[in-house]
Amino acid sequence: KQKSIIIGAGIAGIAAAIRLAVKGYLVDVYEANSYPGGKLSEITLKGYRFDAGPSLFTLPEQVEELFLLAGKNPSDHFEYSKLDVACHYFWEDGKSIKAYGDVNAFAEEVNTKLGEPSENIRKALRSSAYIYEHLAPLFMHRSLHQWNTWVNPQALRSYLKMGKLGIFETMNAANERLFQQDKTVQLFNRYATYNGSNPYETPATLNIIPHLEFNIGAFFPKKGMHDITQSLYQLALDLGVRFHFNAKVEEILVENDQAVGIKVNQNEVKSDLVINNMDMVNAYKTILKKQKQPKKLLEQPKSSSALIFYWGIKKVFPELDLHNILFSDDYKEEFHHIFEKNAIYQDPTVYINITSVHKKDDAPEECMNWFTMINVPNNQGQDWDVLIKEARKNIISKINRILKTDLEPLIEVEQILEPRTIESKTSSANGALYGNSSNNKYAAFLRHANYSSKLKKLYFCGGSVHPGGGIPLCLLSAKIMTELIKK
Ligand code: FAD
Repeated sequence: KQKSIIIGAGIAGIAAAIRLAVKGYLVDVYEANSYPGGKLSEITLKGYRFDAGPSLFTLPEQVEELFLLAGKNPSDHFEYSKLDVACHYFWEDGKSIKAYGDVNAFAEEVNTKLGEPSENIRKALRSSAYIYEHLAPLFMHRSLHQWNTWVNPQALRSYLKMGKLGIFETMNAANERLFQQDKTVQLFNRYATYNGSNPYETPATLNIIPHLEFNIGAFFPKKGMHDITQSLYQLALDLGVRFHFNAKVEEILVENDQAVGIKVNQNEVKSDLVINNMDMVNAYKTILKKQKQPKKLLEQPKSSSALIFYWGIKKVFPELDLHNILFSDDYKEEFHHIFEKNAIYQDPTVYINITSVHKKDDAPEECMNWFTMINVPNNQGQDWDVLIKEARKNIISKINRILKTDLEPLIEVEQILEPRTIESKTSSANGALYGNSSNNKYAAFLRHANYSSKLKKLYFCGGSVHPGGGIPLCLLSAKIMTELIKK
């Protein structure tokens, strides 16, 4: 059997392990942490369980495909359901709307509560589906670095539609054209944050994202987001993949322009293939530091990061759903702070994810597990201790105003995740959540390829390479990469 080594047990690393094991490789995964999943992990605090990172689950077929590949029935191993309400939105003026999973119900709700004609919602979602149909096959399912991605009938058809794919205007400009009401524009601008970008900069092409959430659906794994990691990790074990934890790889060994293995814990381990799932910027700084550096790619601006308070709350708020957003009064200023000033706006948009709404045992009786998050700049050496203290105060007072409560005495337990710890726990450059930002129209082309053009037998997967961050794209990166090996 050919021997392959994977560096990192992030979700893309696990997916790559499954795909290679199915192809008959002997697979060894080396992971610096003591647990699998990277950002997709969980924490428990005094009777509360929290999904530590990702909270929104889209494109579940990318997970299911891995079970199918291994000849298993996905629903025997991983269960999930479609959400009736994708998100509950709140504003300071007392308005709130539920984004129903059913498009017509959502359009009706936006019409009744915000005065936005329902047809505008349907039109926006049709346009989103159109972008998906034309761009997903090119950008999500194939390597951008192979000529046959660009020269085929499907690609040629897409070139003819360039004008309608949002490449030439910003997301905010397109949404201002589509919608009458500022609140609807704000709601749709929020999708830029799904890959850590700025709606006032990112091309309207990213209006592809509402298609995933509304036309296809938002989902919740029955056992929580961490079950994506757990069930795929178990599948990899069943396929004979060997995981080595607390094993921080020190170097990718290279001989005659070919990757031949790794150095880990002072030992050299040889292999026929090396796959890197570690963030590319930090990989070039550490395990590839002797190799030629692709400077331009590494210097690309990074996505935003996050500040999260995992709070055990001694009360049930019946008005809150699984996903809740308490919007900032000045969205433009908020993004100006994040991307231009590298600071946190005084009135941030607050996201509260509460899995105990669906999974009761995630919190004690009459309590809720609040994953309370705001978008923040990535780590540029700011004085985070000061920023976090200030932000905590502003977040709590915003929650108090909108939910008409006094939160502080209800917080029973607290743990914090912030840009510095995101970087130290998963080695993401600057603690960015999604690798590079998509704040310009060339960003998709400036991500690292899924293979090394300099070194043979070296391949890449994960959120910092093509096609990008977020669970579905990370899973697709493993697929694209494995297909390149076949060639
Ligand atoms: P990572 O999770 O980055 O893991 C890389 C692994 O490599 C780590 O385990 C690390 O320890 C290991 N490693 C690094 N260096 C070495 C080394 N030298 N040797 C050995 N191992 C090493 N996505 C969504 O789809 N929906 C969401 O709602 C969402 N929300 C998010 C919220 C937060 C707070 C965060 C942090 C992320 C969120 N994301 C979301 C993004 C998503 O989590 C990531 O895109 C995805 O999990 C990244 O997976 P990955 O395979 O690139 O690896």
